[in-house]
Amino acid sequence: MHLRVLGCGGGSAPGVQLSSYLIDDVLAIDAGALTTGLDYEGQCRVEAIALTHGHLDHVWALPMTLVHRLGASTPMCHLYGSAYTFETVQTHLFNERIWIDLQTARADDPDRVAWHVIEPGEQQTVLGRYEMTAIGLNHGVPCQAYRVRSDDGCLIVCGDTVTTDELWRVANETPDLGGILIECSWPPDWEQLALDSQHYNTSLLLEDLKKLEVDVPVHVMHRKPGFEQQIEEALRASGDERLRFLVDGDEIRV
Ligand SMILES: [Zn+2]
Ligand SMILES: [Zn+2]
Repeated sequence: MHLRVLGCGGGSAPGVQLSSYLIDDVLAIDAGALTTGLDYEGQCRVEAIALTHGHLDHVWALPMTLVHRLGASTPMCHLYGSAYTFETVQTHLFNERIWIDLQTARADDPDRVAWHVIEPGEQQTVLGRYEMTAIGLNHGVPCQAYRVRSDDGCLIVCGDTVTTDELWRVANETPDLGGILIECSWPPDWEQLALDSQHYNTSLLLEDLKKLEVDVPVHVMHRKPGFEQQIEEALRASGDERLRFLVDGDEIRV
């Protein structure tokens, strides 16, 4: 399995892309950088997009990339997400005001975009070759991670979260796990803001990492712009050698 980091920023700035991870060029987790981190041909090769939640930094490029497919000879795009997330984007993005309603955009081909509801604890086969399991997270809105397994690897890609048991339980029970992508938005001094906004800061993440019993790479992402270095230094000081620090453009093979 090959994962490419299109964007792993916890905010937007020149040179900082929003959340989007691309597996084997065809399966994207979140859409925060699908148009700014991937050229048009690359976008047309994406056959499935799984959304962790409906916050704007994870979905804003979804309308942009989906509209590229209309009138083009691209494969159908399969969307995955919770019913809550789909209701969010259908009501607040694809509402004929912010953007076109893609359910009715092509009367001659209404199946150009297929919506597949997947809730925490459920598992579905994606594109005939990925076993994808949704894992519930703790955030301000319903949010989920995805464990994605193919013939040659297994990864967990998280959405936004604060302290959780379920994620680490699933990780501990995944013998072929090749790594976890986990958020850490704020540095040590910002614990109250992290709790208020339902994100990890460094101290909350380090406390939660004690629950992870397996020796797998833990790739830290969603660092707020301007705090990247502070977050990295605080986490490195823990001495936990499983920690890695993602930047846009990184590639991971498992
Ligand atoms: Zn969020
Ligand atoms: Zn976010």
